[in-house]
Amino acid sequence: MESKSNDKAVEEQEHYQCHKCKEMITKRVVCALGKRWHPEHFLCRDCDKQIKDDIFNIQEGEPVCSECFLERYTSTCAACKEPILDRTIRAMGTNWHENCFVCDGACKQPLKDCAFFERDGKAYCKQDYEDMFAVRCAKCEKPITENAIVAMNAKWHSDCFCCNRCENPITTKTFTIEGDKPICPACTC
Ligand SMILES: [Zn+2]
Ligand SMILES: [Zn+2]
Ligand SMILES: [Zn+2]
Ligand SMILES: [Zn+2]
Ligand SMILES: [Zn+2]
Ligand SMILES: [Zn+2]
Repeated sequence: MESKSNDKAVEEQEHYQCHKCKEMITKRVVCALGKRWHPEHFLCRDCDKQIKDDIFNIQEGEPVCSECFLERYTSTCAACKEPILDRTIRAMGTNWHENCFVCDGACKQPLKDCAFFERDGKAYCKQDYEDMFAVRCAKCEKPITENAIVAMNAKWHSDCFCCNRCENPITTKTFTIEGDKPICPACTC
């Protein structure tokens, strides 16, 4: 997106050459983009309609009317389907308004300034992602974010995988299972 301009001015002037038709302009002059135009020759680059609004857009040095600009040069927000005229957040292969790119979990907070986690085309803040999707420890049921111990068809925090007798964490590779509970080698014999 190039810059917006509202510096179009209609002056009563003579002896200017119209940028479009190269004829002298004897009555009203439109000054825009550093050039002079007959008002009726100040046309949208895309639809060729006269631009009468004071505000227009510029693409590659040519004026574009607001309608064409919305249609051709803006992206559509994946959440609200409205055109994005301000800052665009690009995430997950599509575009979003800053305020529309929010956590899909419980908090619904904007994610523009934080790391987010993606799952099935939805974005989540770290907290909600962990609450909803992280692997949970078989003992304390809290999410495991690193160094999970995989044992007995479940995952555990390393601190939570404890001997059922002495309650010390089991750090050895081998252990005994007794009634679905792990027993450390020291307590086994
Ligand atoms: Zn002209
Ligand atoms: Zn147009
Ligand atoms: Zn939006
Ligand atoms: Zn959240
Ligand atoms: Zn745990
Ligand atoms: Zn033990």
